Amino acid sequence: MTPLFPNPDYYKYNLIAMTSPEAKRLWRRAIKEHFDNTCIYCGESYDINDLTLDHVLPRHHGGRDDTNNLVCSCLSCNQKKGTNNWKQFIQQHGNPLREQILSDYVGTI
Ligand SMILES: [Zn+2]
Repeated sequence: MTPLFPNPDYYKYNLIAMTSPEAKRLWRRAIKEHFDNTCIYCGESYDINDLTLDHVLPRHHGGRDDTNNLVCSCLSCNQKKGTNNWKQFIQQHGNPLREQILSDYVGTI
C-alpha cells in the first residue's frame, strides 16, 4: 500500500519518488488506495484505473490540491457532483455513513 502524504512533494522529500510526475502519480494512487478503490459518494468499488479524484471543495471555489481536499470518486459521481457542495450532493445521492466518512476525512475544509 502506498503511504498517504499531504501532497506530491512529500513523495520526493521522502525519496519514495525521484521525479515530480512520479510523485504525483504515487500521490494520486495513495488517495485511491486509502479509499480502498471505492467511490466515496456511491460506495461502489472499481478498478483503480477507472476511478477519478474529486476536489471536495471545488477548485472553482478555492479548493486546493491537498490530500484532505481530494477523494476517490467514480467518473459518474464526479461528473454529477461537478462544482456542487459535497454535503448537499452526498445527502441527495449518498448515504449518512458515507457523509460521516467524508466529513472525518476532510476535517475543517
Ligand atoms: Zn460513485
